[in-house]
Amino acid sequence: MPDTPVVAPETVRIVHQKLLEQFGSRTPSKRDPLDGLILILLSQATNDVNTDRAFTSLKATFPDWKMALDAPTESIADAIRRGGLANQKAARIKEILRQIWEAQGDFDLAFLHDKSADECEAYLNQFHGVGPKTIACVLMFFLDKPAFAVDTHVFRILKRLGWIRDKASVDEAHRVCKALVPDEFKLDLHINMIAHGRTTCRADGNGGPKCGDCVIKAQCDFGRDLKVSPGKSVIALSRDPDFFVTIKQKKELEKVDEMESEALES
Ligand code: SF4
Repeated sequence: MPDTPVVAPETVRIVHQKLLEQFGSRTPSKRDPLDGLILILLSQATNDVNTDRAFTSLKATFPDWKMALDAPTESIADAIRRGGLANQKAARIKEILRQIWEAQGDFDLAFLHDKSADECEAYLNQFHGVGPKTIACVLMFFLDKPAFAVDTHVFRILKRLGWIRDKASVDEAHRVCKALVPDEFKLDLHINMIAHGRTTCRADGNGGPKCGDCVIKAQCDFGRDLKVSPGKSVIALSRDPDFFVTIKQKKELEKVDEMESEALES
């Protein structure tokens, strides 16, 4: 297997700094880990609005998790219908609740706040349907632990920057970024890469990357030497902007992400 690209720490720092200047930084927060896990599961294959609606409906229907555990799966599915893939998500939620209840007799995952990021990752990894992206999101957004989630935008940008191999899997991208991105950058770089992917480093089917407007062009393997005017996308130059992303990788992303509609535009 070819080696993982060697990326200078200074390059990572510059990319982080430039995106920080463009998109800003956030204050991390600690919240209920189980709420977080369920919310992130509900966010698969839908947008933020529908995720919030599904989660609010779930909590209103089942004010405590024991009620949800004792309810038929179809009732959970009805409560989260707005978020899509309701039957599949309901089964996963019920199974997670069952595992937690059988292990500890309650649903209090606050003990995770006192664990290391690796210990939290190992704990969350036991649940069916909970992959590296979901785990990283729970760590970042609910436990204030260092983690770097790779979604479709981040994966595309990592390939274009040259931070991961052309044929890297999404799991490999998670492993690479866990080591490559300093802990203190992880939360902001993740969020800012998504913002960059939505606004500038767009997928081929969404207009292509606007390398002429890109603040990290000098750090990017794909765009560094391209002559592109501001406002123009690379598609205008008849170059395939997704040539680093193979069909196999796209399918893998679709499986991991199950929708994120921008990612499935091809
Ligand atoms: S230069 Fe182009 S391909 Fe590279 S990160 Fe910027 S927009 Fe994306």
